[in-house]
Amino acid sequence: MRIKLHGTRGAYPTSSKETRKLGGNTSCIEIIENNERLILDAGTGILEIDFDSYSTADRIDILLTHLHMDHIQGLGFFKPIFDPSKEIHIWGPGGSSYPLKDRLNKFLSPPLFPVMLRDIPSKLVIHELPNKPFQIGCYTITSKFICHPGPTVGFRIEVASKAVAYIPDHEPMLSRPHLFKEDNWISGFDLCANADLLIHDSQYSKEEYKHKVGWGHCTMKIAADLSKRAKAKRLVMFHHDPAQKDADRVKLFKEFKNTNSYDFPIELAVQGHKIKI
Ligand SMILES: [Zn+2]
Ligand SMILES: [Zn+2]
Repeated sequence: MRIKLHGTRGAYPTSSKETRKLGGNTSCIEIIENNERLILDAGTGILEIDFDSYSTADRIDILLTHLHMDHIQGLGFFKPIFDPSKEIHIWGPGGSSYPLKDRLNKFLSPPLFPVMLRDIPSKLVIHELPNKPFQIGCYTITSKFICHPGPTVGFRIEVASKAVAYIPDHEPMLSRPHLFKEDNWISGFDLCANADLLIHDSQYSKEEYKHKVGWGHCTMKIAADLSKRAKAKRLVMFHHDPAQKDADRVKLFKEFKNTNSYDFPIELAVQGHKIKI
């Protein structure tokens, strides 16, 4: 399984030269196994995808963790949705008040977007994520609701004997600095368990988090502790705060590594990086 990081930034895109190293595009990754592809989230990173790689695909699957703008902002500019020969399947969390289609329609309609969802030329098929594992091609996909404002899921994608967990926006302990003793009380735990790769929120420094408890994000330490407890084999820290310069983010990461010890690799997500598991 190959994973491409097309957008690693949280909240909003940034083009500053001080955020260029880790990348300015918002959340989007692509998973590739042989010729089968999945797109996870449709932040501005989706526009980094090589559209030619989809030229012969009749069907494209886009899985959304949630509908915050940084995870859907690129959707209306993803070229294949304007190709009438394409069938685009969009998967996202159901909600208690409005169906996924109505919530997507709020963004993909005037005045926020010039084209109505119903007028998009490709065949759009919108799915609310099921409560049990499901299959898209070779991939077995599990989604679970996790702690973040509004209906939000994390994903676990499995193929052959490999598993990647993707939880870009997550506050696993909701205001507590330490993990619960009981695994099943920890949001997202099952998704991460024994994963070969965990791509996880780590937006805030310890200091910032003190002022942003309940905002739905977490620190590098919480992400690493979750990874350790769940026995994930590798952690990629994702959803970088756009207000943080890369130099400051790297400094924080070095301090974190110097003051904590984990027996699995941990790295900062870098836009454009490819990971093989
Ligand atoms: Zn986000
Ligand atoms: Zn969010």
